[in-house]
Amino acid sequence: MKKLKFTFILLILCTVIISAQEKKQNNFEDWSSKPPKVIPAENNNAPSDAIILFSENLEEWETLEGEEVTWPASMAGFAVVPDTPGINTTQAFGSCQLHVEWRIPTNEDHGETLNWGNSGVYLMGLYEVQIYDSYNDKHKIYYNGQAGSIYKQHKPLVNCCKPPGEWESFDIVFTAPQFNENGSLKSPACFTVFQNGILIQNHVEVRGATNHSKYTEYKKHADKLPLMIQSHGAAVEYRNIWLREL
Ligand code: MG
Repeated sequence: MKKLKFTFILLILCTVIISAQEKKQNNFEDWSSKPPKVIPAENNNAPSDAIILFSENLEEWETLEGEEVTWPASMAGFAVVPDTPGINTTQAFGSCQLHVEWRIPTNEDHGETLNWGNSGVYLMGLYEVQIYDSYNDKHKIYYNGQAGSIYKQHKPLVNCCKPPGEWESFDIVFTAPQFNENGSLKSPACFTVFQNGILIQNHVEVRGATNHSKYTEYKKHADKLPLMIQSHGAAVEYRNIWLREL
């Protein structure tokens, strides 16, 4: 009987020791703060914490001169009006997750080569994710200038463009650059981009404001700046644009 009692106590002791060891092994569990709850949405629609930048009108946008945008818009989307300047968001943003849907027009009359479906999404108005008709090989452009490129800096990992006339999407994760007090660069801007759900830019570092003709370099700027949509000679359409600040 005594032996049985001893075995029982030993068993409890072992259980306590093992449980303490397990607790010790699990001390990297984080119970300090709960992640905020976000309600997802169907069909690429905005999740509950997103800022909706376009659903049916251009109230969240202004011209580059700060005036009301007169481009026609409806629930179906809006199109860039060629030969007018691009548009900026009225709000400024830094690091963010951005969803934008776009469509290259089927109209073949785009004028000069570089206008073939050319538009672009400029994070902070400075760093462009290019939009272009890169489905058709006949519209040749340097590879770091095709659709999904970080313009003239990083070509996309793959070409997953759809034909003109079909809606496409970008899901962009953008990290804003940081600057030191003296204006020097502390950390560069970074992009991760999915086009039509496919990874095309994998955490690439930006070398400075994207630019057509000049060598790019950083110049200290505000922590938040408006998002810009480029007007570049083609009536590229847009719809369903939303952004989550990071
Ligand atoms: Mg462009």
